This record gives sequence, structure tokens and C-alpha cells, in this order.
Amino acid sequence: MECVLCDEPVTNPVCQDCLAQAIEQWLWEAAPHKIDEMHTETETIRAEGTVKCIRCKQLFSICTYCYTKHIFNWLHDGELQLEFLEFFNFDMYRLEPYTTRKVFS
Ligand SMILES: [Zn+2]
Ligand SMILES: [Zn+2]
Repeated sequence: MECVLCDEPVTNPVCQDCLAQAIEQWLWEAAPHKIDEMHTETETIRAEGTVKCIRCKQLFSICTYCYTKHIFNWLHDGELQLEFLEFFNFDMYRLEPYTTRKVFS
């Protein structure tokens, strides 16, 4: 099962909606005025998929890396971006250090 954007195998099967929920929780603290826009951004990279989300069981096709990178770029604010990385490095969905590594490469 490969991601439709980067063609890498999806090793962390959490869909963009579940990730968006986590991001929304973070935005409530960090930048609540951006929440609606974040959900709109999430819609822009939705795609038909074959990977089953381990949380909500829906099918999806965008890996956590591509989705979080999309949101990371959309944030477009150095401070928020750093917070975003910190938040998702610790986290409940194991976005892992690889998020940081790839985003900066
Ligand atoms: Zn990808
Ligand atoms: Zn899900």
C-alpha cells in the first residue's frame, strides 16, 4: 500500500482525518483562528485510498509524512511550524523523528 503522493509504503496507517483531529487540538492552543482553514487544507489533499486507518477504519491513501508536510507548509509561520514539529514529535500517533528529518531535508 503506497502513498499516492510520494509512492512510499504507508507504514503508519493513520488517516488525514484522525491527524487533523490531533492538529485541531493543538491549534486550539496555538492558533484557534486557523482551525477552519486547516480543515479546508485537509480536504485539498484527500484522495481515494486502499489503506485502512488504524483508528477510524476508513480507507485513505496519503501517508502521515505527506499530510503533515502539507500542513506544515500551509502553517507558513516559523514559530508555529516549530511548535507543530515539537507537538507531533512527542505524540500520540508516533509521527516520530522522521517527520522532522524529512521536513527539513
Ligand atoms: Zn506520502
Ligand atoms: Zn482515521
